[in-house]
Amino acid sequence: MKRDIQLVILLLSVIGCSLASLTLWKVMASRERALEEINTHGLNLTQALVTYSEGIVRQSSVLLLGLVERLETEGSGPAQIKRLRELVGRQQPLMPQMSGITVYSRDGHWLMSSNRAIPVGANSSDRAYFIHHRDNPSREPFIGLPIRSRANQEWVITISRRFNDAQGEFAGVVAVTLGVENFLRLFGQLDVGQQGAISLTYTDGSLLVRYPFREQDMGRNFSHSPIYAKYLQGQTVGTASFSSSLDGVERLYAFRKSDKLPLVTTVALGKREALAAWQFEALLSLLVVCGLLGLTGAIGWLLIGAMRRRDVAEDELRVAQQQLVASNQQLEQLAMHDALTGLANRRSFDETLAQESGRARRSATSLALLMIDIDYFKRYNDHYGHLAGDACLQRVATMLASCTRRPPDLLARYGGEEMAVILPETDSAGAAVVARAMLERLSLEPIAHHDSPFAQVTVSIGIACASGADADSLQSLVQRADAALYVAKDAGRNRLHIG
Ligand code: GH3
Ligand code: MG
Ligand code: MG
Repeated sequence: MKRDIQLVILLLSVIGCSLASLTLWKVMASRERALEEINTHGLNLTQALVTYSEGIVRQSSVLLLGLVERLETEGSGPAQIKRLRELVGRQQPLMPQMSGITVYSRDGHWLMSSNRAIPVGANSSDRAYFIHHRDNPSREPFIGLPIRSRANQEWVITISRRFNDAQGEFAGVVAVTLGVENFLRLFGQLDVGQQGAISLTYTDGSLLVRYPFREQDMGRNFSHSPIYAKYLQGQTVGTASFSSSLDGVERLYAFRKSDKLPLVTTVALGKREALAAWQFEALLSLLVVCGLLGLTGAIGWLLIGAMRRRDVAEDELRVAQQQLVASNQQLEQLAMHDALTGLANRRSFDETLAQESGRARRSATSLALLMIDIDYFKRYNDHYGHLAGDACLQRVATMLASCTRRPPDLLARYGGEEMAVILPETDSAGAAVVARAMLERLSLEPIAHHDSPFAQVTVSIGIACASGADADSLQSLVQRADAALYVAKDAGRNRLHIG
């Protein structure tokens, strides 16, 4: 794969990974923030509820304290009870959460009920709060578990105190009943969603009130719940998240223990419900990012496709260019060389001679020319045939070419069985050395020629030389070399003549 395509893939991968991890990080961070907000909201609610509960209990305790004081000083005879009823009648409207106040004698009989006439034979000696006060000399108020009121069958929580007789012996109990309904009305006004719950419990896990209300939960003990079994062991306030043992729904809990009373308030929100807004936002972010990633991928795919097509076109262009160069070289070879011998052709000879003449003139150097003609070649053709004549011509050309070693020297086929050599910066002596070497080469590697007096193929060479300073001598170079060749022919062939 090409480097630029690799770089594009790398760039797109880096962009994609960064975008994905950034979004994931942002989504997870916003989830943490949402959970924190939910917990803070829950803790604030528990604070308000603890304060509310403490207030009611304190109000009830103070009221009870006054009644106990009166019962202990004035006694619990019918006249005293009558006055007590009037007093309670005046105080009750000040505490709307209160359902009623009841006074019990030392054996559990009802002495007074603020709400209604005493039912015949009513006795509460079996109630837990009564037994507690009877058996416990403590003067502190007692918060009882929810019970069904015998007066009106409603669920109530009792707050009670004991009162003694003049000898300090147990004389009875005064109890304030708080309607669970009142608590439920308040809890119901708080928005905790469909899966939320608010509860007020004892520190030992016994349920006093829970919203939403479920009959079977009243007075139930939740000490096995993680809040009591685990969290409240080491802290008085906190948050937790676990699945409810009641309905299996995972909730976020905020709990707070009252510092003054053995009460715990818990606010629970359904985790899924509480995180719904975050979930929607996260889904939206993911959709947008997926769209962006898809778009980036598509653009990258198109880009890589375009780059691949460009590479293919470039490769094809390069191949075409190479083919063109090769054909040009071939054409040049054909245009400047002789097809039979492979030597430079007449055209190339004329161009080179013109160039070298110009150079010699400019640099005032000498220029030599050899005209070479194969002896008795017509006879060779006649004897051996035209094809053998061609082969002979090729061999002679090869042998003569081996005698011109300097790069600027040019051996060309001048025409027919005639060849010419241009020797730049060479005087007639130097040219004669080259010509002699050619004659010697042919004699040392003889090509048989039966119709020649030499019995082998020979050549005659005419040499002409010109000085760059002399323009006339340059112009007449070919004629003079030709003339020298004829002199060599006339002189018996297989020789050179310097013109
Ligand atoms: P001389 O010694 O006087 O040069 O005798 P000659 O026979 O070589 O003279 P002439 O110039 O009359 O003959 C040249 C012959 O060379 C004529 C032609 O048949 C032959 N010839 C020219 N070009 C070619 C060629 O390309 N191939 C072959 N086989 N023969 C060629
Ligand atoms: Mg000839
Ligand atoms: Mg000849």
